[in-house]
Amino acid sequence: MRIECTCERGFHEMPTEVIEVSEHAVEKVAEILKDYHRIFMVSDENTYRVEGRRAEEILKASGQLWKSVVLPVPTLPNEKTLGRILIEAGDAAQPYDINQFSENPDYVLAVGGGSINDSCRMVAYRLGIPYGVCGTAPSMDGYASVVAPLLCKGAKYVYNCTIARHIIIDLNVNAEAPEPLLLAGLGDLLGKYIALLDWEISRDLTGEYYCENIANMVLEATDKALMLAPKIKSRDIETIRAISEGLLISGEGIAYCGSSRPASGTEHMIAQTWEIMDVQAGRLPYLHGVEVGCGTFEAVEIFRRVYREIDDPRIKPLIEKYLPKFDALEAMQKEVHLPFTQTDHDFVIEGTLRGRTFRERYTILQYLYDRGLLEDYAESAYKAMMEKHFYGTFKEQFPDWEE
Ligand SMILES: [Zn+2]
Ligand SMILES: [Zn+2]
Repeated sequence: MRIECTCERGFHEMPTEVIEVSEHAVEKVAEILKDYHRIFMVSDENTYRVEGRRAEEILKASGQLWKSVVLPVPTLPNEKTLGRILIEAGDAAQPYDINQFSENPDYVLAVGGGSINDSCRMVAYRLGIPYGVCGTAPSMDGYASVVAPLLCKGAKYVYNCTIARHIIIDLNVNAEAPEPLLLAGLGDLLGKYIALLDWEISRDLTGEYYCENIANMVLEATDKALMLAPKIKSRDIETIRAISEGLLISGEGIAYCGSSRPASGTEHMIAQTWEIMDVQAGRLPYLHGVEVGCGTFEAVEIFRRVYREIDDPRIKPLIEKYLPKFDALEAMQKEVHLPFTQTDHDFVIEGTLRGRTFRERYTILQYLYDRGLLEDYAESAYKAMMEKHFYGTFKEQFPDWEE
């Protein structure tokens, strides 16, 4: 896919060929993958039930299915899962020839969400073959990502991989996804307001590259999802479409930009630090998007105070543009009650301070740090987010959730 652009780069492109978001999209899988005839399909017990079984039937009937493997749940993107996929990517029935390497499939089709997609993306990359995904839940913006966050040696690392050649989102399947996954997708998407504001600040303060068209594309998609968000609990199909498309557009923005800048700022750097702190403490991290939702509300409170108290003509007008979005986020939270992940004072503050250097990226955290204000702002933001936006923790809302 390629778009012409008015920014200094002149155009943007990404290797993804097809993004299909529609009702009953799975029915088109054989047609979309018509160039592949040795498809290795990977799902887990849950995703097989909701979509994999149907995809398998269709690809079998068209003669394109080489092998289908169904992994046990929960599927974590770790050494065990990747090893299993790699072992299954060989054909045990094939006559053994000591002088030959085993014949590879010609395509890996991931049926699932974050974990399966990230694991398959890595295996396909290592096998040197294309891959695609039937996304079963709109839970994060990683379907169009080039990197895979994987658990290795007890920690979380981000590995460079390949990008999906085809992304197929069946809205009817996505609408039936478990509620935590829907809320996670919403959280990941709403964080874009903070990411885009940080990007504009960096453009003006550090001269960083900025593309207005990419930023607007992501902003519009986020606005649309925010407007429809209150209907998420009733699984309204247009709300699911807005979230699914919004996350894909955010993923496209990342691919077009060549970095996650349009989709990840203060809120992600804080949230991803919390994820790492949880893993380091031997706990399973929360769903990425739920964590980001929590980080977003903290970042909102940081920006609000900066706007009130720091008279810097370079950033004040930029924040002012986003104040109505912040109000809308707050109104949405009163209806939707996005769960919070982290509520422990010391944990939140530590993640906020360490989050500043999570990656090399100029954000409001660095701006405050340079002025000796970060700790004080982290404290006040924590207090404000707990007083104004907190409607319960994830564990309180979903006590049986295992991921
Ligand atoms: Zn551009
Ligand atoms: Zn994210």
